[in-house]
Amino acid sequence: MDKVNKWYGAMHVLRDVSLSVAEGERVVVCGPSGSGKSTMIRCINRLEQHQEGRIIVDGMELTADLRNLDAIRREVGMVFQSFNLFPHLTVLENCTLAPIWVRRMPKKEAEELAMEYLTRVKIPEQARKFPGQLSGGQQQRVAIARALCMKPKIMLFDEPTSALDPEMIKEVLDTMVMLADTGMTMICVTHEMGFARQVADRVVFMDRGEVVESGTPDQVFNNPKTDRLKTFLSQIL
Ligand code: ATP
Ligand code: MG
Repeated sequence: MDKVNKWYGAMHVLRDVSLSVAEGERVVVCGPSGSGKSTMIRCINRLEQHQEGRIIVDGMELTADLRNLDAIRREVGMVFQSFNLFPHLTVLENCTLAPIWVRRMPKKEAEELAMEYLTRVKIPEQARKFPGQLSGGQQQRVAIARALCMKPKIMLFDEPTSALDPEMIKEVLDTMVMLADTGMTMICVTHEMGFARQVADRVVFMDRGEVVESGTPDQVFNNPKTDRLKTFLSQIL
């Protein structure tokens, strides 16, 4: 994304945000509440619309052109803080819905694929249950499997562990590390420093709608240049 600007009414929430992520790269985005992290990643699959600047995903520019939008959404998987599973569908149905209806995959093939990903996130035995019967950590792993079933080229995570109890955070982070090990391109909004240090190629610090600093985990966490980042780190560490 290049010089992206976004306003909500009179409020300027993204200010000349430029960020380019290479294939296979893992970027962690951090910053104080209200700094625009969610807005920024939601613009990437147009859950929010930017008003100025350009966003290009896998060579396609996000514009009002709906064909591009469809194509881009197929490439981009997203996992939210609050799981966002369909409560009235089983785990398996949650995973097969989009492949069947959007990718036109035969049901049997979609189910096989779903079982493969549920196995990778280590909950194949939960396939016939409903989301409400699962723990938060299990639900979030279903959400990850569901996104992967669309075979995305890039995965966006918006604070995927912040709604979870401490004992469940690790299982979700382990799943994300596993995904990183497969070479997936990932942009993760998270304050999990351990995860960032372990997998991030780059950490981006946002404050008040701007990218203030970016660098390797070591540069950003151990050698912050700006007072804004120093203050932020003193609050979260
Ligand atoms: P958090 O860490 O709390 O999730 P964030 O960095 O993700 O914060 P955003 O949710 O992107 O921040 O919000 C950026 C700014 O935009 C905030 O001031 C927020 O109040 C505002 N905002 C977000 N969504 C909307 C909306 N739909 N309408 C109006 N203002 C919004
Ligand atoms: Mg947010």
